[in-house]
Amino acid sequence: MSEPEIAIVGSGPSGFFAAEALLKSDAGVRVDMFDRLPTPYGLVRSGVAPDHQQIKQVVKVFDALATNPKFAFFGNIDIGRDIPLAGLRNRYDAVILAYGASAGTPLPIPGSDLPQSITATDFVGWYNGHPDFAGLEPRFDHECAVVVGHGNVGIDVARILLSDHARLAKTDIADHALEALRESRVRRVHLVGRRGPAQASFTTAELRELLGLPGVRVVIDQDAMQLNEEEQAYLDLPVNAAIKRNVSVMADAIAREAHGEDAKELHLDFLASPMEIEGTDRVRSVRFARNRLEGPADNRKAVPGAEHFAISAGLAISSIGFRGKPLGNAPFDERRGIIPNVAGRVTGEANGSMPLYVAGWIKRGATGVIGTNRADAMETVRTLLSDFREGRWPVKPGRPRTPALLSGSRIDFMDWKRIDAAECLSGREAGRPRRKIVSVAAMLDVARRGEGAVLPSQPVG
Ligand SMILES: Cc1cc2nc3c(=O)[nH]c(=O)nc-3n(C[C@H](O)[C@H](O)[C@H](O)COP(=O)(O)OP(=O)(O)OC[C@H]3O[C@@H](n4cnc5c(N)ncnc54)[C@H](O)[C@@H]3O)c2cc1C
Repeated sequence: MSEPEIAIVGSGPSGFFAAEALLKSDAGVRVDMFDRLPTPYGLVRSGVAPDHQQIKQVVKVFDALATNPKFAFFGNIDIGRDIPLAGLRNRYDAVILAYGASAGTPLPIPGSDLPQSITATDFVGWYNGHPDFAGLEPRFDHECAVVVGHGNVGIDVARILLSDHARLAKTDIADHALEALRESRVRRVHLVGRRGPAQASFTTAELRELLGLPGVRVVIDQDAMQLNEEEQAYLDLPVNAAIKRNVSVMADAIAREAHGEDAKELHLDFLASPMEIEGTDRVRSVRFARNRLEGPADNRKAVPGAEHFAISAGLAISSIGFRGKPLGNAPFDERRGIIPNVAGRVTGEANGSMPLYVAGWIKRGATGVIGTNRADAMETVRTLLSDFREGRWPVKPGRPRTPALLSGSRIDFMDWKRIDAAECLSGREAGRPRRKIVSVAAMLDVARRGEGAVLPSQPVG
């Protein structure tokens, strides 16, 4: 019997962790991994903040995996555009969809389509050099920016906006972002959430880092910090230790001495729902309703009241979550923005279809850290291999060779390593971990010309 050949769509953490579980199994499989970009690693490259280089070290594990002779990388191949999903399913014995869920959610309010009202996805992609967002052009010509959403991505965005330029210049932030932020007039960032401190979904380390940013005065609404007895008892439960830690980190920040007069300001605002982004030609201010909380301590709901207030700002960034997008004719849960599945096996397909699998953010939604995707992908691979052993997807005879399916210009892992080497070399010369290439055309050019190629001036697109 020939070796089962598995295609993985997406080279983010979930794709690589799925490949790892497959290659470590005793099923003798081969793995072909596809990514629409010439660069692998998904959000590790284009989501994780540039000043968090340590977290990006996980790619060393992925690089080691890529040397396995039973693994091949097909970068710059968009499944859906270059190869239809149906064609991929026809070619491979099984397919795992691990293509992420990184579409941003605009604020569902009037004015959210104004220039300078953007989603965190776009902004993060822009500062991280994702080719899709290189042309974004956020403007930092107003002293205030508003970021809506109390999660770690909102924290990343606020920190980048408030960071000292010299600090950013030591990171792999995209050149265009470093340049634009050099001229930034932003001195005040409002990080606004609709509920209270006990409902914010920050992790403590990220929160502590933000509230301790050098040269930034932290302003927190003290009224919102007052917890009633029920809320205090809720925080005292061992299961809520992380929330309690967050609240205490906020209380410490309030107690700290204010910095000097020239300090930038971070306002951590609670109990406010955005109602309208105001302006005619671009964002001029964001109007909020003051909320109250209702319901039991473990399920507090924000209810907007009659009191409204506006924050004058030139940039409004929505960081209220990410969604997946449908792919080909794979089933899709519009409400949750994921592909419906049970333990990684896609549900809702026509009777008689060969099983299809899913891993990572497109499987469970945009939650969890990089490591969460490991257990998630392992579950999917367990399901896949047990289906194989039960004969739910017999190995296909006489399948077409992969290159016959390709219409794009494929980047293999060695090509990527040439791009990587060129970025790192150029970064080293500038005292930075890397200088990212931000256009696909330039990446392909560097891949063809080889290691040490001079970084081209960075055309956008
Ligand atoms: C802004 C931000 C910051 C984060 N910071 C951290 C952090 O500091 N620490 C941490 O642990 N976690 C962090 N995370 C979470 C972490 O990045 C995710 O848990 C993880 O990346 C999800 O992995 P994934 O493989 O499911 O999706 P992704 O990482 O999104 O990977 C999906 C891949 O699929 C590819 N793809 C998409 N469509 C197609 C297609 N049609 N054909 C082929 N390929 C396709 C994409 O190009 C991408 O490479 C952060 C997330 C965000 C958004």
